Amino acid sequence: RKMSNEAIAKGEAVLLKEARDKFVEAFGRQPQAAACAPGRVNLIGEHIDYCEGYVLPVALPFVTVMVGGLNNTGECRLLSILGTGEEVKTSFPAPTPSAPLKPGPPAWANYVKGVVANFPGGVSGFDAAIVTDVPMGSGLSSSAAIEVATFTLLEALTGRSVGLVEKAKLCQKAEHEFPGMPCGIMDQYIVTMGRKDHALLIDCRSLEAEQIPMQLGDLVVLVTNSNVKHKLTGSEYPTRRAQCQEAADRLGLSSLRGAKIEDLEKLKQQNCEEVVLKRAKHVIEEISRTEEVARVMKQKDFKRVGELFYQSHESLSKLMEVSCPEMDQIVDIIRGAPGVYGARMTGGGFGGCVVTLIKKSEVENLKKRILAKYKGSPTFFLSQPSDGARLLKL
Ligand code: ADP
Ligand code: MG
Repeated sequence: RKMSNEAIAKGEAVLLKEARDKFVEAFGRQPQAAACAPGRVNLIGEHIDYCEGYVLPVALPFVTVMVGGLNNTGECRLLSILGTGEEVKTSFPAPTPSAPLKPGPPAWANYVKGVVANFPGGVSGFDAAIVTDVPMGSGLSSSAAIEVATFTLLEALTGRSVGLVEKAKLCQKAEHEFPGMPCGIMDQYIVTMGRKDHALLIDCRSLEAEQIPMQLGDLVVLVTNSNVKHKLTGSEYPTRRAQCQEAADRLGLSSLRGAKIEDLEKLKQQNCEEVVLKRAKHVIEEISRTEEVARVMKQKDFKRVGELFYQSHESLSKLMEVSCPEMDQIVDIIRGAPGVYGARMTGGGFGGCVVTLIKKSEVENLKKRILAKYKGSPTFFLSQPSDGARLLKL
C-alpha cells in the first residue's frame, strides 16, 4: 500500500516521453538528442566539499530530462515543466565572442545559461524542453541536475565533450558565475559520476572518488523531506565558506582539509572568533566522520554508521548552525524509534531533507510516527543509489 506522502520517481522513460511531447508541441519538430541527470542525497560530509575534505553522496532515481536540437537561429529557447506542472519559458541569444552571456532574469534560466556560457568551444542556437521529478529547493540538488543535464545535452548536440571531472568543474563554475552560488564540487561530481548501488567517497582535494557498495542488508536509507524551504538572504552559505577559509588562513593552510583537531588550540591562542572556531571544529570532525562511515560501512558496522549520523547532525545544528527547528524536530522524533540506527540533516541546510538509517521492516512505523508528531507536511522516499548523467535514446 502506497502512502500519499511518498515521493515516487516517475522513471526516465515517462519523463522522456513528456519532454519529447512538449518539445514537439513548442518547436514543431522532433528533438535531436536527449540527456538526463539525477538529483542526489549526501549520506555524510556536509559543508565539507568547499573545505577540500571527503563527502559521501549517492545519485538518486529522480532525474531532470532535457531534450533538444540545434536551431540555426542564434537564439537559445528553453521550456521547462516544473514538478508542479507549471511551465516556464525563456530565450536568450547564443553567446558570441563580442557578446558573452551575462546572468539575468528569469532566475531559473541562469542554471542553463551558466553552462552554455562555459561550454568549451561555444554553443550556437538551440531549442530545449526540460522536465524533472527532482524536488526543487529541497537540498536534493535539482540545480546540479539541470546544469549537468544541459552540459550532457550540449555534448550530444555539438559532438564535443570533455572528461567527467572537467565536466563537473565547468558546471560548478557555471553555478558560481550565473546563479551566484559559491558551491563546492560535490553536487556536480556525484550528479555526473554517480553509480547504481554505490555511494561515492569523493576526495574533494584530489577530485578522485572511491565507489562504496551500498550493501545494507536488511537496512535502508529513508529520506524525509521536511518540505521547508527557508527564504535565505543568500548570505548564509557564502558566510560559512568564508568562515572556514578564515580558519584555514589563520592556520597557514590552503583549506581545512589539512587541519587537525589540535589546531583548534592554535586558533584559540590567536583569539580567533568563537564562531570561526565552531565552524572549524565541525569541518575537522566531519571529515573524519565521513572517512569512518565509508570504512565501517564496508565492515557492515551499521551501529557505528548510525552514531556518526547523529553526531553529524548535532554538529551541523550546534557548530555549523545550518539546521532549522523543523529538521531538528524531525531528527528528535526519529531518535530512539524502533529499528533506527541514526539520522541527520542532509544538504546545505536551512530546510530540506533528513536521512535515516533504519531497518526496512520499521520504515512504515517510522513514517507514521513522523506524520503524527512533525508539525509540517513531510514526504518520504527510500534512497536507491542510481547512475549519474547519461544520454537517452530517442
Ligand atoms: P536544490 O539544488 O537543493 O534543489 P537550489 O536552490 O540549489 O536547490 O536550486 C533550485 C533552483 O534551481 C530552482 O529554484 C530553479 O531556479 C532551478 N531549477 C532546478 N531545476 C530546474 C528545472 N527543471 N527547471 C527550471 N529551473 C530549475
Ligand atoms: Mg543546489
